[in-house]
Amino acid sequence: MPDNAKPTDPTRGTVIVGTGLAGYAVARELRKLDAGRQITVVTRDDGDFYAKPSLSNALAQGKTADALVTTPGPVIAGQLGITLRTRTTVDAIDTVSRTLRTTQGPLAYDKLVLATGADPIRLPLSGDAIGAVHQVNDLDDYRALRSGLAPGARVAILGAGLIGSEFANDLRAAGVEVDVVDLAPRPLAALLPEQAGRWFASRLAGAGVRWHFGEKAQAVRAHAGQLEIALHSGARLQADLVLSAVGLRPRIALAANAGLSVERGIRVDRFGATSDPNVFALGDCAQYDGRLMPYVQPIMVASRAIAATLAGTDTPIAFGPMPVVVKTPACPVTVLPPSQDAAGRWESDAQPDALTMRFLDAQDRLQGFALLGAATARRRQLLELLGQRSGTDTGAARTPTEQPIRTQ
Ligand SMILES: Cc1cc2nc3c(=O)[nH]c(=O)nc-3n(C[C@H](O)[C@H](O)[C@H](O)COP(=O)(O)OP(=O)(O)OC[C@H]3O[C@@H](n4cnc5c(N)ncnc54)[C@H](O)[C@@H]3O)c2cc1C
Repeated sequence: MPDNAKPTDPTRGTVIVGTGLAGYAVARELRKLDAGRQITVVTRDDGDFYAKPSLSNALAQGKTADALVTTPGPVIAGQLGITLRTRTTVDAIDTVSRTLRTTQGPLAYDKLVLATGADPIRLPLSGDAIGAVHQVNDLDDYRALRSGLAPGARVAILGAGLIGSEFANDLRAAGVEVDVVDLAPRPLAALLPEQAGRWFASRLAGAGVRWHFGEKAQAVRAHAGQLEIALHSGARLQADLVLSAVGLRPRIALAANAGLSVERGIRVDRFGATSDPNVFALGDCAQYDGRLMPYVQPIMVASRAIAATLAGTDTPIAFGPMPVVVKTPACPVTVLPPSQDAAGRWESDAQPDALTMRFLDAQDRLQGFALLGAATARRRQLLELLGQRSGTDTGAARTPTEQPIRTQ
């Protein structure tokens, strides 16, 4: 990181944009290291804290959106000694004068952290009812989804990736009829090898999920008091509610308009700094070394490193192996996909209630794994094997309460 990244006017303090897991994680870590620093956190929402991963397993527990809030914004502000500006949208960043333009007036910063998250991708659907298609990426979305569900409702989910699969399981457990549509030939296709994907599909089918693979939704129309989803094969599904879960797109416009380097996400270096050394980014909006990592564990790792750097000790972000936990009680999954360029083969051990798959290279060294059903109990053992191989901290010794993570 260039020398001009050092603080030039500490009286302006650090400004963090966003009160999701990323924004609050940086505020918390920075406060631990620097008791006196002025920290201002700006958010366009109400600043209440909730664990976003709980959105896809809260319906079966009957939880309201309000019940998911674990700490109200003003309480966090008091705990951390930060200034919290809620319902304040940042419209522009002037990196020369180091000032934000916000809906509540200008705000100067010494160091800026962007933790602005991502927007759900919208499918190019036609039809007169596309406005009725739900997406769930925050508490308000969850509130709207929940209020749209009557007892015995039927829901069509577009997307059989991690979030679509988690909602499918949760909605079934809540007594809802569920159809899932995906162009891929099986669920979790970006995460699991074929055998594991089929195993997972059959377990969720056993729980009542109806899969429609190799299918693409083209239109959503209102028809006879319900919704009709037209698939490209010509088939039609009836539903009371449609939930789209086809991925996220990082919010990069604010950074791009300020002249910061962006690609799919806001590009950051190994310290989490953007192309402007006074501006950092992390979480769903950031792109680390070409990769998007829209999940919790990378946020925790990046927030600690960025906070240390902001507090004066340049600290690179070091991501270790980060297994993905899929929150589907009908078929729990923990998977550590091998890197994209890894050469090797999958080996499997299938039991009626457990599937273990290991990805081994030419020297029979473990490069990744997929654990399904009761096999998820072997997670620590396999992470330790990986740690012995690489000599890195695998996180295997961390407590079971650590946040589950997901990959894209
Ligand atoms: C349903 C669901 C289930 C998930 N399950 C898991 C899981 O099991 N494991 C896992 O690891 N990950 C999971 N994830 C992903 C994980 O929750 C996210 O990676 C993480 O919460 C992203 O946090 P963030 O702070 O980067 O973004 P967000 O939580 O999106 O926060 C963005 C913040 O920026 C604010 N903001 C944006 N633009 C502006 C602006 N211009 N001005 C002011 N404020 C602005 C917003 O108001 C918000 O406060 C899940 C995600 C979803 C949607």
